[in-house]
Amino acid sequence: MSEQQAETLEEQDELDGHDEHGQVVDRELDAEAELRRRVAIAQIRQWGDPVLRLRAHEVTSFDDDLARLVERMTDLMSDASGVGLAAPQVGILRRLFVFQTKDDEEPIAVVNPVIVEAGGEAEPDDEGCLSLQGVLVPVERPTTVTLEGQDVTGAALRLELAGLGARVVQHELDHLDGVLIIDRTDRESRRGALKALRPQPTLD
Ligand SMILES: [Zn+2]
Repeated sequence: MSEQQAETLEEQDELDGHDEHGQVVDRELDAEAELRRRVAIAQIRQWGDPVLRLRAHEVTSFDDDLARLVERMTDLMSDASGVGLAAPQVGILRRLFVFQTKDDEEPIAVVNPVIVEAGGEAEPDDEGCLSLQGVLVPVERPTTVTLEGQDVTGAALRLELAGLGARVVQHELDHLDGVLIIDRTDRESRRGALKALRPQPTLD
């Protein structure tokens, strides 16, 4: 999932005068970060890639390869300014995702995740996706979820999440079943998204 929602909040902070950084330094950092983001996006499977539509398989061995995959996905998510990334998005059909909704919190990897309880009133909110560049569509989801699964060592994991965290894990879990945000939005938003995703013909 992309960080567009979080960015909107940051922009609001800047408008409110909360930006405490020097502008010039910011601009250099921004250029560097933007370059890192582009390199990361180039390594993430994009719309049209059939792997995004397949169901991922259960993880059965918790070995060094899995640990390395989690590390690679965490780095890519961070570089891409994402708040979540699922294994199929890097071409690996395994039931696993990483997510991080706050900069000051450790990223969390969830293996073989299952939502055991979902509640709260379903709310629509705009969602973006690292595999659907330029798309932001409203998606309605339960606002609280209890997620069970395993960590990277195979130990049992249980998370109770609300707000953005609840939204992100539902988005990432969808990726493990080949489901994308355009499948969960209203018909009009879906039409607009597909139009934005269609390669533009060159007229020359
Ligand atoms: Zn996504």
